[in-house]
Amino acid sequence: MELKKNTELLASQQKILTKIALGDPLQEILESICISIEELIDDKTAKCSILKLVDNLLYSIASPSIPNTYSEVIDGVTIGPSAGSCGTAAFIGERVLVEDISNSPLWEGFKNIAKDHQFQSCWSTPIISTKSEVLGTFAIYYDSPKSASQECLNLIDYFVHLSSIAIEKSNDASHMRKLIKDLKVTNQNLNAFIKVIPDPAIIITKEGLYLNVYAASENLLSDPIQDLVGKSIHDILSKDDAKMALDKINKTLQTNEIQVFEYTLTIRANEYIFEGRTIKIDYDNQSHVLWVIRDITNRKNSENEVKKLVYYDPLTNLPNRRLLTERIRDCVEKIKQDNTISVLLFLDIDNFKRINDSLGHSAGDQLLIQSAERLATVLGDVNTLARIGGDEFVILEDEIADNIQQAKSNVIKLVQKIQKIFIEKFEIGKLAFQISASIGIYLIDKNHANSDNILKFADTAMYRTKFKGGNGYSFFDPKQQTLLETKTELESEIVRAIENDEFCAHFQPQVDTEGNVSGAEALIRWNHATKGLVPPYQFIPLAEQFGLIQKLQNIVLHDICLLLNQLSKDSSLPPGYRIAINMAQNQFNSPTLKTELISILNQYDIHPNQIKLEITESMLSNDLPYTVQQMHELKDQGFTFSIDDFGTGYSCLSTLHAYPVDELKIDKSFIDNIENVQTGLPIVETIINLAKNLNISVMAEGVEIIEQFNILKDKKTDGIQGYLIAKPMPAEHYINWHQAATNS
Ligand code: C2E
Ligand code: CA
Ligand code: CA
Repeated sequence: MELKKNTELLASQQKILTKIALGDPLQEILESICISIEELIDDKTAKCSILKLVDNLLYSIASPSIPNTYSEVIDGVTIGPSAGSCGTAAFIGERVLVEDISNSPLWEGFKNIAKDHQFQSCWSTPIISTKSEVLGTFAIYYDSPKSASQECLNLIDYFVHLSSIAIEKSNDASHMRKLIKDLKVTNQNLNAFIKVIPDPAIIITKEGLYLNVYAASENLLSDPIQDLVGKSIHDILSKDDAKMALDKINKTLQTNEIQVFEYTLTIRANEYIFEGRTIKIDYDNQSHVLWVIRDITNRKNSENEVKKLVYYDPLTNLPNRRLLTERIRDCVEKIKQDNTISVLLFLDIDNFKRINDSLGHSAGDQLLIQSAERLATVLGDVNTLARIGGDEFVILEDEIADNIQQAKSNVIKLVQKIQKIFIEKFEIGKLAFQISASIGIYLIDKNHANSDNILKFADTAMYRTKFKGGNGYSFFDPKQQTLLETKTELESEIVRAIENDEFCAHFQPQVDTEGNVSGAEALIRWNHATKGLVPPYQFIPLAEQFGLIQKLQNIVLHDICLLLNQLSKDSSLPPGYRIAINMAQNQFNSPTLKTELISILNQYDIHPNQIKLEITESMLSNDLPYTVQQMHELKDQGFTFSIDDFGTGYSCLSTLHAYPVDELKIDKSFIDNIENVQTGLPIVETIINLAKNLNISVMAEGVEIIEQFNILKDKKTDGIQGYLIAKPMPAEHYINWHQAATNS
């Protein structure tokens, strides 16, 4: 008997364990446990019920022999100190044997329902997990009061243990299923992310070894990046970038904070800029770094583009005023710390406006570009060369010396280098120009390091150079600051001088080679209250810049008219007698030139055939048809034209024939050299021959000695002007000279 029971027990145990091992549904396993124990217990009224504990509530999970009407009522019962056999056993974690339900205080609330189903005794054993948690209860009901035998309790314990295994395994399995499900979802999401996010990610070790790569297959970098696994950061990045990235990786691991950094990579011959973001992760049970790579090439390029627009001059690609201002500020900060001396040079091209107006802006632009290129060659990389407006360049050289004396001598050396770049002519198209620059110098030391003033003071020094006639340099010296040394003060000074009648024309005679007076040239003078006579080169370029030139031209024309009236009143003028006036660039280009000239002449009743207009070659190289028409209109009135400084400028030889020119004035520099038969004379001869061929008369200017005069006479020059004949003189003196000369 005993053997038979044991065999049955073993058989059912094997059956149940097999089901557990095969992962059969929990309910099925527990139901076969119930049926097995019911069969093995002597009392055939025994009914088994297994309840599962979820959050203090018991739920029926297997009770194949117990009617649903009972199970449904106790389903969801709350465990407690007197909640029937099961509720109490689950609550206290110990077996509860109720031998007679009808008089058990634990069954107070459930007696009727038990009675309805003829349950009279109920033994309940908690099912306890290997981790000592109560998983549920295992109960046997009888329909008569019954006390438990040890043998029976052993049997129950045996099946409780099996139930515990089954429930625990099932819990683990569902836990695993949930994990796998969650993992699947996460994986799907991750794959979706990787697909849509263009940023590849890599897992990298502290030493910079690539462990894994995540990148969408369509990714730009996918080809090279898939090959990364197994390589080292040193194989991929430049030495500097690799070092920087390794620092970031270590920082990420140490601080557990995200690090962001930029680096460049050349992929398939294109340079890319990337942003790396690193975060610490556990991978293969070790701390490594996840590095997300973002291609920021386009963003960087447009940032650089914007930066370029904001900080650089588009014409010359040089830093502009804004960047210069920042560099000055940096320089000042540095000087305050290390007590060295820096220098700022303000450079302005002389007469640039004239070139720009006469040749057109594109030629002007070319000149600026070439100037910038030449200037760059004399400066090291560390210095700043900026263009801060029209023809204004600035050079900032840091740490030129550590004492003033040395600084001054170094600056002068620098200036000499700069001046050298202007020696060679600038070629623009077919034309060649000689230009020069005016330089203002400001030395920046600890005591003179106010970044707001530096540029202004260097500009002021530059104006001093202009005032001295340009093509040179001046140091800013606060002690020498006089009224005339800043631009605005100069401007108001000229305005004031006009109002005070400080300007007037002087006159220099012109004669033929027989000594007959043929006319005079009017030359403006400034009778400055304190400086005395100021020569025109000191103020004409400034007056042009300030837009005051027209007023000065009018003063000269009025003086010419007054003189002509005076001369013709005293005696009759020689035939063909003319007074020449020097035209200003923008005056000549003005569409109202004719009416303005005529209106002044009319005031004095002067005929235009008494006026010669001196223009320069540069004025002719502008818009040819317009200029030709303008000249014809003026000639129709009776004016004549002379080309001043002929041969020095922006030679108009190729188009000279197109202009209605009456006279060429050979520049003084050729006359100075005329006695040199190798280099001087041939030029003068060429000009004279050219003029004769074009039926234009020739005037020589700056004739100082008789030898020059004789050569010119020999070469059949039409007119002579120069100190040999007379210096320019005020109108009253000229009248005397004229009368003496014409009466003799
Ligand atoms: P420019 O038209 O070439 O004038 C000739 C200059 O040479 C004058 O200088 C004159 O005084 C000087 N000169 C004449 N003969 C001799 C000589 O034998 N030896 C030497 N060493 N010099 C001689 P200035 O008066 O100083 O004028 C300089 C320039 O200023 C002029 O050069 C002209 O370009 C400009 N300028 C003078 N007056 C006016 C004016 O009313 N309007 C304009 N727009 N420019 C003027
Ligand atoms: Ca002249
Ligand atoms: Ca001249």
